[in-house]
Amino acid sequence: MSEIIVQKFGGTSVGSVERIDAVADIIKNASQSNKIVVVVSAMAGETNKLVNLAKNFSENPNKREFDALVATGETISSALLAMALHSKGLKAKSYSASQISMRTTDSFSKARILDVDAKKILEVLEEDTIPIITGFQGITETGDVTTLGRGGSDTTAVAIAAQVKAKRCDIYTDVDGIFTTDPKIVPNAKKLDSITMEEMLELAGQGAKVIQTRAVEFANKYNVPVRVLSSFNNGNGTLISLKEDTMENALVSGIASQKNQVKFTLHGVGDIPGTAFKILGPISDADVEVDVIVQNVSVDGKTDFTFTVSSEDQETVNSVIEDIKEDVEYRDLIVNSDIAKVSLVGVGMRSQAGVASRAFKALSEKDVNIQIICTSEIKITMVIDESLVDKAVQVLHEEFELDK
Ligand code: ADP
Ligand code: ASP
Ligand code: MG
Repeated sequence: MSEIIVQKFGGTSVGSVERIDAVADIIKNASQSNKIVVVVSAMAGETNKLVNLAKNFSENPNKREFDALVATGETISSALLAMALHSKGLKAKSYSASQISMRTTDSFSKARILDVDAKKILEVLEEDTIPIITGFQGITETGDVTTLGRGGSDTTAVAIAAQVKAKRCDIYTDVDGIFTTDPKIVPNAKKLDSITMEEMLELAGQGAKVIQTRAVEFANKYNVPVRVLSSFNNGNGTLISLKEDTMENALVSGIASQKNQVKFTLHGVGDIPGTAFKILGPISDADVEVDVIVQNVSVDGKTDFTFTVSSEDQETVNSVIEDIKEDVEYRDLIVNSDIAKVSLVGVGMRSQAGVASRAFKALSEKDVNIQIICTSEIKITMVIDESLVDKAVQVLHEEFELDK
């Protein structure tokens, strides 16, 4: 029996009837040598349209109904793509999350996949039929529709690839692969032939939206080889490799940036055991992921506690901080929503010093002030003013000669 390949097509790839027709050709071609399972995003712009529709009655629509609505974009594209395949003489059937039991947690809009009915998908393949599965959608234990967070179709695809033991998951998108940085910010960014799983995890986590972080986490956990490639141009794309290369590792492999961040500083909190937990515990209970966390050295028993979250969680965090007022004493709360993050990632940083100082020097020469610095073994993240972030990416890309 031929092996299974999961092919995922993003929004731009299926953005029009013509594009859906082109994608059907890619699938038809691939189906001649492998069994193909398809995962599809909503047509470009469709999810945003649905999100805006939902905001007509309230800034904070009911979470269950919000997901029920925004998940419908994928339903449309999956059925249309099945029709396009029929027109080319292939057998194909669209499947929603509920039809393949894509079970998730019940955190609406950021649900996590629990399991999926691989048997069902394999049965469809046995009938020589191509399953076209809606990305992004899930269902809870009780059958409510959930969604996996923006960009979540990538995660649907990798999770399915893991469950059906596919030999590879191909993520088709609107760029030729994974680049040294977002080619929309740095037009001469270079496409990489391969990147380590570890680096991709960091780049995706720090905002490289070319693949959702959780998709990389799944690939890493279940050893799924993932390739990112274009549905517009021919080419091999970029392989996210499971094995570390034995070749010399690049000092900096890529740069990621992320806007829409908010920085909260609790100024003058007590430097006593339990403070960090009293602040971050309730925030995590509210299902908010905290990103950068910094606490300063204390003066007179008081310190500043700073953390960043995504803008969409700003309101939630505000109300949590309001709730813990009695428990955590502080002088002022400073909220800054005009910030962004820029991160350098490279496994070579492990063995070579000086990356950070080079980055700081290059940024200072262009008058970019760094508000927070946060490092890990293979990553340096800097929080800066949002208006300067594209410039910072360009400066760093040049400094580390990533276009070469
Ligand atoms: P899709 O709709 O196919 O899922 P996305 O818009 O979610 O596509 O992701 C592709 C986009 O990711 C590219 O158009 C590019 O602007 C952006 N991107 C950000 N960082 C990178 C990177 N390092 N390499 C390639 N693309 C990147
Ligand atoms: N349609 C969803 C979004 O726009 C999911 C995806 O495209 O991956 O975020
Ligand atoms: Mg995407």
